Amino acid sequence: MMDRHTHHNNRLLAALPPADFQLLSPHLQTVPLEQGAVLLRTGEQIEQVYFPHSGVVSFMVDMPNGETVATAVIGREGAVGVLSILGPSRSSVTAIVRVAGTASQISASRFHAAFGRSDPIKRVVETHTGALLAQLQHVAACNALHPVEARMARWLLHIHDRIDGNLIPLTQETVSQLLGVRRTTVTLIVHNLRESGAIRNEQRGLIEISRPRLEDVACECYEVMRHKIDRIPQQTTPRYHAAPARERSIV
Ligand SMILES: [Zn+2]
Repeated sequence: MMDRHTHHNNRLLAALPPADFQLLSPHLQTVPLEQGAVLLRTGEQIEQVYFPHSGVVSFMVDMPNGETVATAVIGREGAVGVLSILGPSRSSVTAIVRVAGTASQISASRFHAAFGRSDPIKRVVETHTGALLAQLQHVAACNALHPVEARMARWLLHIHDRIDGNLIPLTQETVSQLLGVRRTTVTLIVHNLRESGAIRNEQRGLIEISRPRLEDVACECYEVMRHKIDRIPQQTTPRYHAAPARERSIV
C-alpha cells in the first residue's frame, strides 16, 4: 500500500519488479530520518531495515582506541540493516543519520520473510552488500595510505552526491567523527581547503563547497567508490529502474 512512488525514491526498492515489491509494500512505512538519529547500534539487535529516499547515513565502526570512524555513507542508493539477513542479527556497525531525509522502514522480520520468497529481493540485497563490502575494504586502504585532507575531500564529495545544492550540513564535530581525527585537525584542514578554494565558506554547521576544486583535492578512492555504487541499478534490473538517478559519465 502507501504510495509506491515515495518508496521508489530508493534505488533498491525501485529496482524490484512489481510482484516482488508487493511482498514488501504492505509493511513499508515512510519515516523521517532526523539528523543525529542512530538507526543501528553496534552489538544491538537489528529490528528495522531502512531504505532512504533522501538524506545521508554513515556506517561507523569502533576503533580499538575507543574512537569511531566512518567506513561508508549511503543515501537513496542503499539500505540500512539488510546485512542482518547474513546471520545473527546483531549489528557490527553503528548507523547514524548525518543529513536529514526520509526513508521507507520495514521490520527486520517482515523483511527477512519477503527475502526468503523473492529472488529479485535477494539479488538487490546481494548487490547492495557487495557494494558496501567493497567500500569497507577500500576505506581501510584509504585510511592507511592517503592524507587526511584528501580523505576529508572524499567524504564531502560522497555526501554531496546524496544531497541537493552545494551547502553540506555538517559540523566540524561530525567531520571529526567521520574521519576519526581530532577536532583541531579538522579545523586545520578546513582552513587549508578554504585557502585552496575547495571550501568556500564554513559556519554554523554548513560547509559550502566548490565541487571542481574539491575533486582536485580528493584521493582517487572517490572515483573508485562512486563507480562501485553507481553500478547498483544496472546490476539488478535496469528496466525497473524508475527513480531518476543522478546522471554521471563514468569511464
Ligand atoms: Zn583514498
